[in-house]
Amino acid sequence: MDKAYNHTTESELYKRWENSGAFTPNDSKKAFSIIMPPPNANDPLHVGHAMFIAIEDILVRFHRMKGESVEWLPGTDHAGIETQFVYEKKLAKDNKSRFDFDRETLYKNIWDYVEMNSGVAMTQMKRLGASADWGRYKFTLDPAVVSFVCETFQKLHNDKLVYRAEKLVNYCPHCGTAYSELEVDHEERTDKLYHIDYPLTDGTGVITVATTRPETLFGDVAVAVNPTDKRYTALIGKKVKLPLTNREIEIIADEGVDTAFGTGAVKITPAHDPFDWSVVEKNKEKFDLLETVNKHTVIGINGKMTANAGKDYENLSVFKAREKVVAELDLEKNAKPHIHNVGICYRCKRVIEPLPLPQFFVSVAPLTKPVLEALDKKDVVIHGTGREAILRTWLTNLRDWNVSRQIVWGIRMPVWHNVEGHETEVSVNFIDAKGKQHKGLLRDLYAEGFDLEAIATGLQQIIVPIVSNVPFVVQTEKPSEEGTWIQETDTFDTWFSSGQWPVVTLKTGNAGDFEKFYPTSVMETAYEILPFWVMRMLMLGMYLTGNVPFKDVYLHGLVRDGQGRKMSKSVGNVVNPIDLVEKYGADALRMALVMGSTPGQDKSVGEPTIKGMRNLSNKIWNATRFLKEFSGEQPENAELKTWTLKVVRQTTEHLDKLRVGQASEYLYGEFWHGYCDKWIEEAKKGSVGTSQMEEVLLVFLKLLHPFMPFVTERCYQEIFSQKESDLLITAAWPTV
Ligand SMILES: [Zn+2]
Repeated sequence: MDKAYNHTTESELYKRWENSGAFTPNDSKKAFSIIMPPPNANDPLHVGHAMFIAIEDILVRFHRMKGESVEWLPGTDHAGIETQFVYEKKLAKDNKSRFDFDRETLYKNIWDYVEMNSGVAMTQMKRLGASADWGRYKFTLDPAVVSFVCETFQKLHNDKLVYRAEKLVNYCPHCGTAYSELEVDHEERTDKLYHIDYPLTDGTGVITVATTRPETLFGDVAVAVNPTDKRYTALIGKKVKLPLTNREIEIIADEGVDTAFGTGAVKITPAHDPFDWSVVEKNKEKFDLLETVNKHTVIGINGKMTANAGKDYENLSVFKAREKVVAELDLEKNAKPHIHNVGICYRCKRVIEPLPLPQFFVSVAPLTKPVLEALDKKDVVIHGTGREAILRTWLTNLRDWNVSRQIVWGIRMPVWHNVEGHETEVSVNFIDAKGKQHKGLLRDLYAEGFDLEAIATGLQQIIVPIVSNVPFVVQTEKPSEEGTWIQETDTFDTWFSSGQWPVVTLKTGNAGDFEKFYPTSVMETAYEILPFWVMRMLMLGMYLTGNVPFKDVYLHGLVRDGQGRKMSKSVGNVVNPIDLVEKYGADALRMALVMGSTPGQDKSVGEPTIKGMRNLSNKIWNATRFLKEFSGEQPENAELKTWTLKVVRQTTEHLDKLRVGQASEYLYGEFWHGYCDKWIEEAKKGSVGTSQMEEVLLVFLKLLHPFMPFVTERCYQEIFSQKESDLLITAAWPTV
């Protein structure tokens, strides 16, 4: 044996495991399964991924050694918004944008780009020792997955859980898509609160409204005051003239108006503010909601003012329009600083614009109810301090799920609109055969000589207003019935497909997998994506199968740097897990990550910790070297025997109860201070013989194997392996 342990042999060992078939499930009746959280296919792994790989690999190796039929199903994610975002940045470098391509070409280009970079994540997972079942690997855009996800949408539609509605959505004009409420970050900002006088039409004076968004006044449909506000009761029902326009609007009462905000009088702009939307929605006798919103939308999806804002303002950016209104009405003099929460795009960090857009929604109440019941019955148990309460809060308050995304990189919705007879209402963007973009109403494009086929081929986006009542069907193939059918251009929210991941991976895999491995045993992931992902998997898993998708949820925390700081590019403290593997070995990194970790809590890991764990690799190696040379005849030492049994019992119990952090800490102490410091010294003194020392070393190699698979396998090969196929990875877990 070499004097020091050389971790550069890890890849070789990995190949031996993989070739031995150890990663595929055996035919034991007792199943243990984990569906891997699919990392972004074309992104290198970060240290958080290394954390999930360490924890999940520990669990699957442990259960495999216990003789169970273990399935750890790997996959990667197309990461819709993220990937398209990165790809568009790349396009921008070549002075291009997504609007230069029809959706099919753009999709194909992104596919090629992803394919070129894919495999990165997978190769890196192998470097970390992930003993996953690569033969069952899934990508979220595999054709079988895409069909399954579309069928789920059809099923939801048949069950009347899908509806199309124009609602205010959280729209990022930069990213060009709507987001769900979960994807909007909030930031406290200081903006200006402006005061605008709206003159009463009867000439008796003015009512002053306070607003941070004067540029939206073109979209006002009323001024609202609280009915209990004595300052204004006499004015309710009177009319005012909207400044900069000749339009008259009414002063209405709404108990939701905060009398303490500004002047207590607010402008009502339903197309651009959720509260204002709700006020108009309530006042059915005064307003037809959709018609009102359509007529008074003054900001378009490009983030610019629309024609409804008048020709002086049309096409100005929101910011420019604000400046112009402030100047024209001389609002600066009465402006006051105002601290408020602003919605920010979680991708590009720009301000979210609430905009009315036709979208598909999933009704969530029927989906969340069974999940809450499953939590009550403990059919699913959440491991992670306080996280169950957070999950319950989300489930109880969740609003209907907007699953439409205006991006190309994703699963296109299986929805077909019959636009016949609606040529004056439906508008499209498309690229013609010469690569030129056209946009407008179908009628106008037909008049320019384009036919349906040309439009459908070069299609970028179709906008079908809800008010037009255009009939649609939900199916993957183009309908054969009479009609002028155009497929919806929106794609599904990535979480809509990954929310079905445990079901879809097992149902589209090998025959019998679903029956054998569903519900899966453990879902292990970062607590950060509890509402995005875990909650959706519970909702859709239960909807599709009537059963929870997993029995235990293990939520790991963030990995912070040695000083406890969050890793971020701007601080410059991001570590690349593969660099650490090269320097110290995968074993050392894995052990450092899990050592003493607690579900739901963040963990600081600095380089000294990893170095310390490399020392543990060396310690295991040196103990094995010592025994290779050692010879001593002694009867069995009873104390050593009792102690060994206790270590086996305790470690097994920790792992059975998912106490990975405690198990690692415990084993570290027992091996270092017990086996090495105490018993190797006893052996040197002659109080323990070779065979017992070997027996106990074998026990430790087995117990340590899930944590530090490489060094333990090497040591096993040095002393215990009888033949080529005799591997520690498939050796039996010690019993008491
Ligand atoms: Zn954005």
